[in-house]
Amino acid sequence: MPLDGTTQTIPPRRGLMLILSSPSGAGKTTLTRMLLQKEAIDLTLSVSVTTRPRRPSEVDGVHYHFVTPDRFRELRDAGELLEWAEVHGNSYGTPRGPVDALLGRGRDVLFDIDYQGTQQIRSRAREDVATVFILPPSMRELRARLERRAEDKPEVIARRLDAARNEIARWRLYDYVLVNDDLQRTLADVTAILAAERLKRVRSEAAVAGFVETLAAEG
Ligand code: ADP
Ligand code: 5GP
Repeated sequence: MPLDGTTQTIPPRRGLMLILSSPSGAGKTTLTRMLLQKEAIDLTLSVSVTTRPRRPSEVDGVHYHFVTPDRFRELRDAGELLEWAEVHGNSYGTPRGPVDALLGRGRDVLFDIDYQGTQQIRSRAREDVATVFILPPSMRELRARLERRAEDKPEVIARRLDAARNEIARWRLYDYVLVNDDLQRTLADVTAILAAERLKRVRSEAAVAGFVETLAAEG
């Protein structure tokens, strides 16, 4: 039932941007996939553009839009990226158009982006953003996960492990910090965070104001 107790359409809740970040290998892609598989969670993934080579398991247009460095520069210079960053020697960015369209329709959008992109989006739209940082249970386990994933060359894994310490140091930028030891537990925590963030007053200010007016009018 709408908040005002009638069958009228209430003003749509503002769309929420849920950002997941972690050092490479801590599990955010796995968590993202699990979140998207649950229809009831009702999130849409922002598909980034990247100049990184496609991994064997990845599909162009689904996991990323794989582009050349020239095309990336074109998008960036035309202002078509909401944020962008160099990560592990490649360029990554969030196409602005799809995100604006989804938020405009009151849809919630999930981002798998690094701390640099998180900083850029947060500084522009703080109230519409919830940020979650995923940590590995240990550095040894992080290495083991990168090796088990077996999708990157050894030198790429080494570079990502080197970068991990710098990324982990950014944890204070995030609203929530989770240690991804048990995958189901972490998924439950992210789901709970999303549920609470969706209920925040700022996201449905107009609907609450209307409802409170009807309460006041009841005398
Ligand atoms: P990221 O996207 O952060 O780089 P992935 O989601 O690709 O990380 O996870 C890296 C590897 O670790 C994958 O093989 C994944 O199956 C595994 N993994 C993720 N979370 C857990 C967990 N809680 N316990 C054990 N293995 C995990
Ligand atoms: P991967 O190459 O493992 O898919 O991603 C490497 C890193 O780039 C991860 O930390 C991931 O979150 C980040 N990343 C992916 N897409 C984007 C993006 O559009 N913008 C930014 N800033 N980082 C991204």
